Amino acid sequence: PHELLLYCRPGFEHDLSAELSTKADLAGWHGEPQSRSGSGYVRFVLPSEEPANALHRDLPLDTLVFARQSLVALPPLEGISREDRLSPIVAQVLESGWSFESIWQETPDTNDGKALNGLIKALERSLSSSLKKCGALRRKAGKRRLHLFWTDGDTVQLGMSFPGNRSEQPGGILRLRSPREAPSRSTLKLEEAWHAFVPRDAWPERLNQGMQAADLGAAPGGWTYQLVRKGMYVYAIDNGPMDKDLMASGQVEHLREDGFTWVPPNRLDWLVCDIVDKPMRVVEMIERWLLRRWCREAVFNLKLPMKQRWQEVERCLLRLDRHLSEARITAEIRCRHLYHDREEVTVHVRLLS
Ligand code: SAM
Repeated sequence: PHELLLYCRPGFEHDLSAELSTKADLAGWHGEPQSRSGSGYVRFVLPSEEPANALHRDLPLDTLVFARQSLVALPPLEGISREDRLSPIVAQVLESGWSFESIWQETPDTNDGKALNGLIKALERSLSSSLKKCGALRRKAGKRRLHLFWTDGDTVQLGMSFPGNRSEQPGGILRLRSPREAPSRSTLKLEEAWHAFVPRDAWPERLNQGMQAADLGAAPGGWTYQLVRKGMYVYAIDNGPMDKDLMASGQVEHLREDGFTWVPPNRLDWLVCDIVDKPMRVVEMIERWLLRRWCREAVFNLKLPMKQRWQEVERCLLRLDRHLSEARITAEIRCRHLYHDREEVTVHVRLLS
């Protein structure tokens, strides 16, 4: 195979393409992104004979901002007969020599994609029994997974994913249920950020009671709610009103101050910020917190109403990285376009030294 198939939020194909070009170039690859606006995916095609597996390892999904899933892919099968969808799929699998332990059928995160769910269900059984019969689907195959990405009733692209460099969620989408008592739906953005950036086994150590946090731009309290739920004490900074039930927890101090200039009374564990402002202005403020070590970890959003979203994100992340290293601070910086993010991305920083 000499291409990658990457999923993204519909409308962000251009941003993902720009990001892939930048990062592939840096790693010495010369591929070409191919996408259609609003389709929910990007193909990144290498000149023939260049192995996509190595590129796939060079661009770990964890380090990509706009990709929800990343697969090594075969060329799409187009114009499949509705009478017999199975044969061309099985033939392509056999030709590729691929073996795998599981099969996922997926579609783009679009209305057209959802309309294909019936077709997928109908194929499920015969697909796995055929691929079992020919030995491709087997019990031990390095946890590899075959993905069938249907973009139309007669078009499917086959891709392979590898443990440690993939999303374990169908479609690369982490679906979370909004807690009934949460003051706002944006509560899910912070919850998803923790799933994305803090390994599950580190939650007790890094998200626990006794910790202190600041929430800048906190009202009405969706993010504060998550911090309180973890048992933290929260300084909620916002001119707007906070949810009454949340305030009744006794774990929140609401201060009607400017999040860009407020200074915490002592060092805190977490800083979170969901203020709508210029990305660079937010980054400058977060930088001040990190350089003065007012917090150990931070989660913040960069709002991206502009056209060139990747370029803006890249500028912000490079600046943050440069200023932290100039101050000899070792930090882990990650940034992702989460499922619950819309015109924004979420950044996580953790100080390591
Ligand atoms: N994360 C919140 C939640 O889950 O409920 C929603 C935050 S809302 C998107 C942005 C908030 O930032 C608004 O409540 C607004 O009042 C506040 N805000 C805007 N500029 C601010 C500033 N300079 N300092 C503090 N808060 C600010």
